[in-house]
Amino acid sequence: MNTAPSANGIYFFLRDVFGIKRQHNMATEKRSRQVIAVSIIGAIFGSLFSLFNFFTPEMKLLSFVELFTVVLLLLACLTGRRDSFVAIAENLVIFAAFCTVGALIVLGGREGTGLFWAYTAPFLVFLLKGQRLGWWYSLGLLALVTLYLISSHLFCSHAYQYSPVVISQFIASLSFYTLIAASVNHLRTKFEEQLQKQVSLKTADSQKLLAQLQFFATHDQLTKLPNKVMLIDMLKKQIDEINLSEQLLVVYIVKLDRLFEISTILGSVGADQLVLRIAEYLGRFVEAKGILAHTHRDEFVISYQANRTSFNAEELSLFFAERQVSIEIQGHFIYCDVTLGLALYPDHDTDPRLLINKAQQAMLQAHENKQQWLTYDPKHEKAFVRHHLLFGKLQAALIQHHLKVYFQPQIDLLTGVVVGAEALMRWHDPVEGFISPEEFIPVAEESGLILPLTSWLVDVCMQECATWHEQEFKLHMSINLSARNLLDPELVQTLQISLKKYDLSATDITLEITESCFMRSPERSMEVIRRLHQIGFRLSIDDFGTGYSSLSYIKNLPISELKIDKSFVRKLLLNSGDQAIVSSTIDLAHNFELQIVAEGIEDEGTENWLRIRGCDIGQGYFFAKPLASGDFLSFLLTNLMENSNHGNQ
Ligand code: C2E
Ligand code: CA
Ligand code: CA
Repeated sequence: MNTAPSANGIYFFLRDVFGIKRQHNMATEKRSRQVIAVSIIGAIFGSLFSLFNFFTPEMKLLSFVELFTVVLLLLACLTGRRDSFVAIAENLVIFAAFCTVGALIVLGGREGTGLFWAYTAPFLVFLLKGQRLGWWYSLGLLALVTLYLISSHLFCSHAYQYSPVVISQFIASLSFYTLIAASVNHLRTKFEEQLQKQVSLKTADSQKLLAQLQFFATHDQLTKLPNKVMLIDMLKKQIDEINLSEQLLVVYIVKLDRLFEISTILGSVGADQLVLRIAEYLGRFVEAKGILAHTHRDEFVISYQANRTSFNAEELSLFFAERQVSIEIQGHFIYCDVTLGLALYPDHDTDPRLLINKAQQAMLQAHENKQQWLTYDPKHEKAFVRHHLLFGKLQAALIQHHLKVYFQPQIDLLTGVVVGAEALMRWHDPVEGFISPEEFIPVAEESGLILPLTSWLVDVCMQECATWHEQEFKLHMSINLSARNLLDPELVQTLQISLKKYDLSATDITLEITESCFMRSPERSMEVIRRLHQIGFRLSIDDFGTGYSSLSYIKNLPISELKIDKSFVRKLLLNSGDQAIVSSTIDLAHNFELQIVAEGIEDEGTENWLRIRGCDIGQGYFFAKPLASGDFLSFLLTNLMENSNHGNQ
């Protein structure tokens, strides 16, 4: 880096030192402080010198002059306090300094050294008068002193007589000190200016940061809407203003249904766009009538005062029904559904936090019932509390290994040989005992815990399958997947890692998916399924017959198996409708060259019926309930022995 001063730099420096463009532009307040400080310091030193010189006979006259300057300085100190008298105070200080310097030069001080005190004058002058006036005052002083010294022999005999050498040296050095004083003063003011600039920049920055922090403590970062902290305060205000005889306060929770899935597909930027779009829609609904807050990434709260007689609880749901909330990404429209929960003040609660909580309960209940909206009902409370309790417990259960995997045998109905097993999760809570997967799997799905749960399940299942293979039982393993698993970008990798770890082939694993998996994001789910098929996994449509049973899935998806739901199988012999469904499903599967599995076989008659109709595989309590790993191996050995006995007979 070139640090040599440029010609321009030198020009600007000299221009400023000589005050050609710069003048005293210090704030009056600062000038006032400065002149008072200088006066006080000068007065203290002046008094000390005056006192000291008073006791030296030949310096008595000087002592009086110094006393006089002290008086001048005290006067400057007093006048300097008033803004309009600052210039007078400065001139008084300079006058006092010139008087002392003059007296010292004339009287010579101690052995002629008084002359040298004159060097301090230019520093004081530049400090008080700034760059341009400083030069005028200093040059004035220099001229006066030079004039006096040249003609001093003409004055009275009291005047100290300096030699011509001293005089010429003094004049040269006073000129030099004047230049130094000007430069020092210029550098000082420049440094102060820069310091001030930086301080004000930093102050502005930190003020901006502070304002931002204050804003985001009470607002959402993305939508800039009030967050929960601010919402509570706003609700309190709304409650204070309400006229209880005629009005009520409406609190809605608006939950975006599939934000997790949408984030997985579109990435967080796409999901952010959708959240902003929803905020915009809701803003249009609320307008000036109430509050719109953004309390969680996928949750908004709307609150407004409504007339008790005219309020329509369906208002918000109708608003959504009239418009589809969507964003367009690369030519595709992505839609977002919402679920609404409603709570009213004072009917459901009087505390803002509890009102929000109750609207949340209503929303969760609506979600569970697959309804778009619900108003709070105390009956929901129990289910809500249970849901949250299970969520907390499930997290702990996963860490504390309270979850186990059981295996339910799948039997070849023609030969009676065990050909595989379905892995089913079991949760034995130390306090509550057995908790059904029917209860905890939905909680896991909703909370996202299904992802770590499935990763763990996959590892356990593959390890178990490898153990069977080692013991010469060439069985396949069926693993249940949830809709959310199919949207998990890490699913394929998790499965592949486990395959490699336990040296299994993908064809040993059947992945059971339900038709509802396709309802959410058909394109994305189908893409994952095709990828899994390419790797070699067998795919099975679980609970077939309970959903939409769209034949297009069977036609378009690379599946290997249909699993008839147990609700058609369990009472098969008693219900001719179920028989018709099961028998046509068997034919359908065979027409598409798919294997067919019947689950929920509870008796021999059902097994016989299914075998005769050509069903390939059977699963149910008639053969065995889901078994722990050790029990399953014992079952395999018994089954092996039974079949070899049959073979021998
Ligand atoms: P599913 O996938 O349809 O599993 C079959 C269910 O039927 C199991 O219930 C099994 O114990 C039960 N079952 C089997 N044979 C009979 C029978 O003869 N009679 C009767 N009445 N029931 C029979 P389970 O274990 O309670 O699981 C319920 C559901 O929970 C499963 O239905 C599945 O959707 C889900 N689930 C269980 N484990 C997992 C898992 O590891 N991952 C996922 N994603 N879901 C799981
Ligand atoms: Ca299943
Ligand atoms: Ca099933």
